[in-house]
Amino acid sequence: IKKIGVLTSGGDAPGMNAAIRAVIRAALAKGIEVYGIHDGYLGLHRDRIEKLDRRSVSDIINRGGTMLGSARFPAFKEESVRREAIANLNKHGIEALVVIGGDGSYMGAKKLTEMGYPCIGLPGTIDNDIAGTDFTIGFDTALNVVMEAIDRLRDTSTSHKRISVVEVMGRHCGDLAMAAAVAGGAEFVIVPEKGFKKEELLAQIDEGIASGKRHAIITICEHVTDVNALANLIELHTGLETRATILGHIQRGGSPTARDRILASRMGAYAVDLLIDGQGGRCVGLLKNELIHHDIIDCIENMKRPFNEELFNLTKTLF
Ligand code: ADP
Repeated sequence: IKKIGVLTSGGDAPGMNAAIRAVIRAALAKGIEVYGIHDGYLGLHRDRIEKLDRRSVSDIINRGGTMLGSARFPAFKEESVRREAIANLNKHGIEALVVIGGDGSYMGAKKLTEMGYPCIGLPGTIDNDIAGTDFTIGFDTALNVVMEAIDRLRDTSTSHKRISVVEVMGRHCGDLAMAAAVAGGAEFVIVPEKGFKKEELLAQIDEGIASGKRHAIITICEHVTDVNALANLIELHTGLETRATILGHIQRGGSPTARDRILASRMGAYAVDLLIDGQGGRCVGLLKNELIHHDIIDCIENMKRPFNEELFNLTKTLF
């Protein structure tokens, strides 16, 4: 293999830059040319393709976001659009593509692979919602951001005897909410995998107040319920001031943690090794701290993320 491409797609995540850098430097070290595709599948279709060298990725390991840009490009679901994208890759002589992104981006990579164009998927999302890996690139950084936000809310909640409802990202995966709840010492966690009953939550809050707690922090994954309405309900029930804080895109930004940088670097270099080894249509994961790869089609169609019961139970034990 002589030429490969790399792109970032979908929601951006801290650590994507470290992954791009690793792909480029690992490939160049093996005599492979690397082309960067700007703005994800959109740029692939519009031929925004540029040859990159070692210097192109200087000073980016510490930066959040993605230097290649990302985009949502629903038209990529159409086969004719993907065919045009493949024609662009062929025109540049690019033989394989490393796609860094979330499950939507994996879907695009899977479809290219099915059309005979080999792709390697790297899990880049703060949501940790990709099958076949214990951790995704960006999750650890987002977790630290959420933990710090909880710490700050705790200070002011304790002083004012206030209840805080903190909405965190994760789409339909409760990992970020659960991990943040444990790390931040939150009293309650609500995740989509388990759902929640309002009466039970209110009873637990009552119990906490009766035991002398000066605050309550409820960590909740997005899309479960309207957090402002939930805060109103809690305030009405307890008579204590209750505020909802939606952390939003703050969770996506910032300098990646050491853990994310290392994960991204390992995965990026591993993707290049797989391509050199003649493997295409794979996605990379981390299992018990070992790098692994799966068939990308199997990953999307059949594999499921196991729910972290231990972490969930821990939030209850430590309440
Ligand atoms: P993420 O990768 O973070 O999950 P999206 O779900 O928005 O983000 O997906 C990113 C991009 O991947 C989409 O804008 C689209 O270009 C492409 N994509 C998503 N789903 C498909 C699909 N079913 N077929 C082809 N391409 C897709």
